[in-house]
Amino acid sequence: MVTATPSFPSTQHDHASCVERSLEAAEQLCRDHQARLTPQRRRVLEILLADHVAVGAYEIVDRLADGGRRPAPTIVYRALEFLIELGLVHRLASLNAFIACGHPGAVHGAQFLICDSCGLVTELADPALTAAVREAAERADFDVVRPIVEVAGRCPACRSQGGRADA
Ligand SMILES: [Zn+2]
Ligand SMILES: [Zn+2]
Repeated sequence: MVTATPSFPSTQHDHASCVERSLEAAEQLCRDHQARLTPQRRRVLEILLADHVAVGAYEIVDRLADGGRRPAPTIVYRALEFLIELGLVHRLASLNAFIACGHPGAVHGAQFLICDSCGLVTELADPALTAAVREAAERADFDVVRPIVEVAGRCPACRSQGGRADA
């Protein structure tokens, strides 16, 4: 599903069902592509779905270890590669971190609004913006591979509260 409506996840939204929906979509997508959502890949996706913030690869390693044995970073990178290829996860270059896709299943360009204060990331998949990026790139004779735009700023909660306590 592609939507052009910016929707910041509010702190009150039903996050449990939000996570459930995303995991269901992931499983369906894996079935469609005859790929396997192994427990390891699923855990990585769950970590990225835990909050609407981007998570770095080493943070994912730490969370997978959960006080126990640390998995090799290559295992995490391979899982991330798999999830990115299926369109379930995006890499945010400006943060060198990863975020669960808000529109899994649809091949899409994406724009990310990244809050500098609390790290909240909102994904827009605005077809008009993606088309504008492609057209501008075409005029520059540039072959677009990933039409990803990352925008830094402040989310509505941070604008109204002057910062989130858990930032
Ligand atoms: Zn996406
Ligand atoms: Zn914020």
